[in-house]
Amino acid sequence: MAEGSCFCGTVRYAVDGPFNSMMSCHCSMCRKHHGSAFATYVSAPAAGFRWISGADAMIKYQSSAHGTRNSCGTCGSAVPMMMDAYSLALLPAGPLEGDLGIKPQAHIFVGSKAPWYTITDDLPQHQEFPPGFAAKGMERPKVEPRSGVTEGSCLCGAIAYELTGTPLFMQNCHCLRCRRARGAAHATNIFYRPSQFRWTRGADLVAEYKLPEARFYTVAFCRSCGGAIPKVAPARDLAILPAGSVDTDLPIRPQRHVFTNYRTPWFEITDSLPQFAEAPPPAA
Ligand SMILES: [Zn+2]
Ligand SMILES: [Zn+2]
Ligand SMILES: [Zn+2]
Repeated sequence: MAEGSCFCGTVRYAVDGPFNSMMSCHCSMCRKHHGSAFATYVSAPAAGFRWISGADAMIKYQSSAHGTRNSCGTCGSAVPMMMDAYSLALLPAGPLEGDLGIKPQAHIFVGSKAPWYTITDDLPQHQEFPPGFAAKGMERPKVEPRSGVTEGSCLCGAIAYELTGTPLFMQNCHCLRCRRARGAAHATNIFYRPSQFRWTRGADLVAEYKLPEARFYTVAFCRSCGGAIPKVAPARDLAILPAGSVDTDLPIRPQRHVFTNYRTPWFEITDSLPQFAEAPPPAA
């Protein structure tokens, strides 16, 4: 049996194993829901899944004909969803601790992968669902790129933002907070100055959750869909973008892995980016 929870602990759940699949999904829905480069899900028979707490406090967003995306209403983090047509529970692997008894088996929806992310492992890649699933993927409307502008939006599209100019840096963070907040193998964040950032719609729908014991750690999400969105922190002179929420290509690529001491055992780093065991050196 495995137990999991959202980032703030309001939504808790348990599932009887063993898990029957583990896949990393690159679809735009997963990227926007989690804010990460991709989302890794384990599946188990729905009959063995139960909510322990917080099921009445979730944001439920119907993202397609066959799926409703669930997020914690307090912290916005992605929590399990049910695939009723297949009697499966799909659980984000990021918050699950311990040995899951399974490792990622494939990449799916690589046809809609983020242009700034390169898959460097040798797992099988499927353009959409893996073989055996009759369902079709969903794509969001394409955003026309404008020169010098980076655009992004939440999962439901009610919130949108844009940035001008060059980011400060971009990194993959493997710390436990990021893994749990994103519900993913790791976070991929892009850092800008707040002066480069503006909301273009839906600013009234922005919700935030600050981890009580942390000095700074705050996540932002859409009140309607739970999708990850940027956190603007004037006190730190930073606007921090969850890279999965970006709609256009980026003027930057991931530059390093940080806090690799806390890497999840089921995710192997196979690219050649520099790795920092703890905090990275101060930005130049
Ligand atoms: Zn929560
Ligand atoms: Zn997906
Ligand atoms: Zn939204």
